Amino acid sequence: MKQFVTVYGAEPDGVWAAPGRVNLIGEHTDYNDGFVLPFALPQRTLVAASRVDTPTWTVWSEQADEQITFDLSERVPGWGAYVAGVVWVLREAGFDVPGARMAVTSDVPLGAGLSSSAALESSVLTALADLGGLDLPVDERPRLAQRAENDYAGMPCGIMDQSAAIRCREGHALFLDCRTLDVEHIPFDVAAAGLAVLVVDTKAPHRHVTGEYAARRTACEEAARLLGLPALRDATLESLSTLDSPELRRRARHVITEDQRVLDTVALLRGGRVREIGPLMTASHASMRDDFEITVPEVDTAVEAALSAGAHGARMTGGGFGGCVLALVDAGETDRVAAAVASAFAQRGFSPPEPFVAVPGPGALRL
Ligand code: ADP
Ligand code: MG
Repeated sequence: MKQFVTVYGAEPDGVWAAPGRVNLIGEHTDYNDGFVLPFALPQRTLVAASRVDTPTWTVWSEQADEQITFDLSERVPGWGAYVAGVVWVLREAGFDVPGARMAVTSDVPLGAGLSSSAALESSVLTALADLGGLDLPVDERPRLAQRAENDYAGMPCGIMDQSAAIRCREGHALFLDCRTLDVEHIPFDVAAAGLAVLVVDTKAPHRHVTGEYAARRTACEEAARLLGLPALRDATLESLSTLDSPELRRRARHVITEDQRVLDTVALLRGGRVREIGPLMTASHASMRDDFEITVPEVDTAVEAALSAGAHGARMTGGGFGGCVLALVDAGETDRVAAAVASAFAQRGFSPPEPFVAVPGPGALRL
């Protein structure tokens, strides 16, 4: 990678990559022990790295336009926490992590809900595991990357993003059971069905994301506790009448119905009935808007405009309060639907959205 050579004046030992992701369906279900169905984007984060002989880590990021150096004695703030968190969690897990010099670059948009944070953690984790020859099975890696983000960077995210960045497969969506961490790679060939997945980055400014995310998580835990269940994964719609708080009932209803929509989507995809997942996507959006209350005017506008322009289904993807929308559209219609969303945004005085067509790519790998 040319940036590594520019920064360090030598060739790296290797280059590793991990992708961003969109979640086809299953939002805020991961930390409720439920089901998710993300796929990896072609956009990815690259880490070029070389081993050094001392326990120090130097990281330059093109996106941060900054170089940082840390050792084991300090707690790293800012973007470096996503890298230092990986070093920390690997050591906590008992691994002898090699010191390294790294150069990072990415075409995953930062903070757009496409999980650039997990792409960074996962690319760094994969690089360090290879550089150090660490005996670390792939199916154990997402949990470690998640802990780096939860316990070091301080974002209480679930297991979906890191699982997608590490375990996704080209041409497939990743059906993940977040309780058992069992995965099934579900063929997701939209082109063969004459369709395309249009992603629209709404560019909506994120509003209180971390606080609101944590509040939803707490509400779900509270609902499960009141229901006497280990997690909302185990709850039924019938049981919700025993919850006194209308707000908790709505939050729990989103999770219960969303888990079912993931299962229904998987069943349709297994049967090759791709077009029919559209209504489930749209129902997922309504549930996020009305029951979970995590959408904002920009994402609601994008979904409505895409549906009016003929999309088979559309929904916000990611944690909410901004971010991206995805729409299932006829293959020849992507430009027209994107233009309809752009014009609805212009009408409402929102910043211009950024559309792209998403094709499922591979998970983390060494290039
Ligand atoms: P998302 O994961 O949806 O993109 P997050 O807020 O979870 O949004 O993560 C974005 C943060 O991750 C950035 O603000 C930055 O701190 C860090 N990050 C991600 N990619 C990079 C990168 N290539 N270089 C530096 N920091 C990055
Ligand atoms: Mg993130």
